[in-house]
Amino acid sequence: MSHTDTSNDNTGANGAARAEADDCASIHDFDFALICEYFASIDRQGPGSDEATRLALGFTKGIASGSRIADIGCGTGSSALLLAKDTGASVTAIDLFPQFLTRLAERASAAGLADRITTAASSMDALGYADDTFDMIWCEGAIYNIGFEKGLQYWKPMLKGGGYIAVTDATWLTDNRPTEIEAFWRDAYPGITTMAENIRTIQRCGYTPVAAFSLPDECWTSNFYVPQQLAQEAFLARHGSDPTALGLVRNQRHEAELFSRYHQYYGYVFYIARKP
Ligand code: SAH
Repeated sequence: MSHTDTSNDNTGANGAARAEADDCASIHDFDFALICEYFASIDRQGPGSDEATRLALGFTKGIASGSRIADIGCGTGSSALLLAKDTGASVTAIDLFPQFLTRLAERASAAGLADRITTAASSMDALGYADDTFDMIWCEGAIYNIGFEKGLQYWKPMLKGGGYIAVTDATWLTDNRPTEIEAFWRDAYPGITTMAENIRTIQRCGYTPVAAFSLPDECWTSNFYVPQQLAQEAFLARHGSDPTALGLVRNQRHEAELFSRYHQYYGYVFYIARKP
């Protein structure tokens, strides 16, 4: 989901998510059932693409049948499905919201991958897997809920030595930004920083950086904001009289509009690293 809509005071996630211009209500006030309904109807809850997932996967080695992957904050599962399909590994798909996992399980069955994708409704900051459980940890568009550094640290013990971690996170792409977009992100995700700083954090957490690349704009537009436009019509037809639903749609449209004006200043960056 966007940074405006995942984290709240009840989830245990401590990230990000307060956002919006002054004339928009905070997402914290929204009804989570409505938010889940809105986002469960689309294949991605954050910017991304199969091509970007594959590109990141190409920087890893040795993930194959018999390997175990954790996909943390998996949403309705676009990355979990691709990882299971392309690697032959078993994927544990973890998300806070069972509605998303139900949709993911349906997609896994339809793709003939149900035997290798297991869902787990858990909070990413309270996982409880034994040390050295996973050969790879994947997390697209969700680490902000726990915080970039905290996620890297907290998940490290459950990753085997020599294993990989691959995450995407919102990142400043330039040194200076216009005030409006700086203020939006400072409010939505105070942890946002530059690629250079995030790579230093990866090293400070004891990982070896392998690669980092910024996602193309289509990951935000064709793959995230455009599918939402279609979903918004149906959503408003059902809930158009509900101020909460209207506020949610207004928030998402505002965020898409900011992206169209300021996308050269920020983006999602894929960070791939290895545990020594
Ligand atoms: N990886 C998916 C979803 C990204 S949106 C994709 O790229 O499409 C962020 C996801 O994090 C949402 O599915 C949301 O439900 C999940 N999330 C938010 N807080 C969480 C928490 N504390 N623990 C686990 N998942 C969480």
